[in-house]
Amino acid sequence: MSVDRRTVWPYDERSEPGDFVYSRYAHPTGVEAERQIAALEGAPAGQALLFSSGSAAAAALVLALLEPGDTIALAAGAYFGTGVIFRELGRWGLRHVEFDQTGPPPDGVQLVWLEAPSNPLLTMPDLEAAAAHPARVVCDSTAATPIHLRPLEHGADFVLHSGTKYLAGHHDALVGAVVSKSADDHERLRLFRQRTGPSCAPDVAWLLLRGLKTLRVRVERQTATARILAERLAAHPKVETTRYAGIGGLISFDVADARAVETATRLIRNATSLGGTDSTMESRHRWEGDRIPRGLLRLSVGLEDPEELWADLDRALRQV
Ligand code: PLP
Repeated sequence: MSVDRRTVWPYDERSEPGDFVYSRYAHPTGVEAERQIAALEGAPAGQALLFSSGSAAAAALVLALLEPGDTIALAAGAYFGTGVIFRELGRWGLRHVEFDQTGPPPDGVQLVWLEAPSNPLLTMPDLEAAAAHPARVVCDSTAATPIHLRPLEHGADFVLHSGTKYLAGHHDALVGAVVSKSADDHERLRLFRQRTGPSCAPDVAWLLLRGLKTLRVRVERQTATARILAERLAAHPKVETTRYAGIGGLISFDVADARAVETATRLIRNATSLGGTDSTMESRHRWEGDRIPRGLLRLSVGLEDPEELWADLDRALRQV
């Protein structure tokens, strides 16, 4: 599909708007990506919305669907930036409490926020326990991807993605997505996006579409490689703890000196983010402080040869 970069589409001969009017509302490339993401997640047709980033998607979701004074139960150890957004919105009356997502969410909250698996502690949520809670349930499924998990089928009301990661997959597009189970929620969120403007640009939607073509082969390969690396890391004398959810390309492991290891790899890039074709690794303590172990390294496994990745890791680990 080619990119339609227009921001404006003419009204018809009776001066009535057609399918597309103004690109803040919707554009053909974005609508096609939304159709494909809704299908991947097993949602009703077209019930996905793109945003300018995963963070914009998260902020829009809570602003559109909650009221001042409402409380979110947030999975402890979930992506650091999600808690940062909720703290920022605390000035507007939004509260949040953390809970252990491997068990049931606390009472008295209006939204449950899960992450599958949590980044970087890599716990999997108990989706069924969350679905039994009266509040609506969001599952940030960025790291699981629809190749491994379709949270709507396990009772979630929303699936959120930082499409910047696996869905786009090449470290060259910043994009978010929210998939809704209910048509009313989808419509509320669509209007909120249209009115407040955190839309995804057509070129970015095109990069996302290109990424989706290879999503399955990329994620299956990344998972296969991550399984090998996680097993070897767990047996390595320089590694204290290894975390791997059994699915996806994210691993975290603890060493005595994370900085020394992250700066010693050659093939694995010392960079933030995850989900790209190139492997990246970083100490998360620099961002998250003492909420995670000081020696924790987060590794996002790319598409390189598994033996070359292992040789790179093993050499870096041995020299510290
Ligand atoms: N959710 C998870 C699990 C993430 O890892 C990230 C980014 O690292 C986000 C959401 C935020 O996405 P973005 O960086 O596209 O705003």
